[in-house]
Amino acid sequence: MNKKVAFYTLGCKLNFSETSSISRMFENRGYEKVDFQDNPDIFIINTCSVTENADKKCKKVVKEAKKINPDAFVTIIGCYAQLKPKEISEIKGVDAVLGAAEKFQLIDKLDGFTKKDKPRVLASDIKEAKSFNNAFSINDRTRTFLKVQDGCNYHCAFCTIPLARGKSRSDTIENIVKSAKQIASEDVKEIVLTGVNTGDFGIQDGKRKERFVDLVKQLDDVEGIERFRISSIEPNLLTNEIIEFVSQSKRFVPHFHVPLQSGSNKILRKMRRRYLRELYEDRVAKIKQLMPQCCIGVDVIVGFPGETDEDFLETYHFLKELPVSYLHVFTYSERPNTDADEMDEVVPMRVRNERSKMLRSLSEKKKRAFYEENVGREEVVLFEKDIHDGLMEGFTDNYVRVVAKYDPILINELKKVKLTNLTAEGLMEVTEVETEVLQH
Ligand code: SF4
Repeated sequence: MNKKVAFYTLGCKLNFSETSSISRMFENRGYEKVDFQDNPDIFIINTCSVTENADKKCKKVVKEAKKINPDAFVTIIGCYAQLKPKEISEIKGVDAVLGAAEKFQLIDKLDGFTKKDKPRVLASDIKEAKSFNNAFSINDRTRTFLKVQDGCNYHCAFCTIPLARGKSRSDTIENIVKSAKQIASEDVKEIVLTGVNTGDFGIQDGKRKERFVDLVKQLDDVEGIERFRISSIEPNLLTNEIIEFVSQSKRFVPHFHVPLQSGSNKILRKMRRRYLRELYEDRVAKIKQLMPQCCIGVDVIVGFPGETDEDFLETYHFLKELPVSYLHVFTYSERPNTDADEMDEVVPMRVRNERSKMLRSLSEKKKRAFYEENVGREEVVLFEKDIHDGLMEGFTDNYVRVVAKYDPILINELKKVKLTNLTAEGLMEVTEVETEVLQH
């Protein structure tokens, strides 16, 4: 009988796309992929180092796995496995830990998944993680996360990702276009381009060989995919050429997610970000000039060491005035082996939480204002399969979440709708749904 394997993923879109690819490798080798609860013989737990309490979460999932099948073989991969292999191998119930350079070969490395006396630790130095492993997620047909880039050469003072994922490296445009065509043949309508530092796309074998904007241009011609979204792009890498191309493209949607992290130049310098607030402001202005309806999401960190009340208020007012649509607010937390962890002027946790609350409330206001601006507009929606209280949801090109009465034939279809009303709960209602399905 075929061995049964189950997966558990913590963390970001990249981890999800990698789990999905690794699970397809297992299926191609004759393993049966089952749900976590379904008494698997093998558990693969893909961990994250950015998640708060990564160690506790990892322990909890291992414990859960052992409860389901005490004899199962438990393997830990992912960023946390790369950063703390030894620590993880000491968690009761773990049979193997694989690092960034090994995780895509885990089936061969753990030949047969037979238990040994001691857990196996296969995690080389992160410098060994040089190859690029193609990955994409296919969970349902609506949207796929396609990994185009991995690793990062920047050294932001708060970040452990370069330690967990290694140097910047990318797939080739040719391969990515091939993957996009394969995804299109599975009837997936939307691809989200994913990476650690996506805009830094183009480095192969340590040398810059291709440009992100050329990838965007070539993907725009892939038949069958209706929409491409860029998951996140650093402001200093978001060039006029990219913005201009997206504004006229057939398939790239008017939605950017651009990390800011702080609106104070003093803090941006301390964080070792590669831009100042003026550049960020300029990028947002350029986007809005060419695509007034564009959705712009922002990552921001509060409570970085040295952030005074004045610095925080500078960030707050900067964001308040900027025509951005929503914020992802992160409360700074200390990470071992980062420069920020060594810095003085630590901000008390209470203050960090207060600042975080203020920005989250600002984000709600921004989002509501953006949605209100969209009331009355006609937009194309891609409907998804989840149903709540008889309603289905979908996103417009510019990332407004809409609700409509559940209709099974709308699932995974693009429809032109009119955005009619924003409810007190923040749900965007649509009333006029045209019957014709839109295709490029
Ligand atoms: S750009 Fe900075 S925050 Fe982003 S992955 Fe690289 S080092 Fe981390």
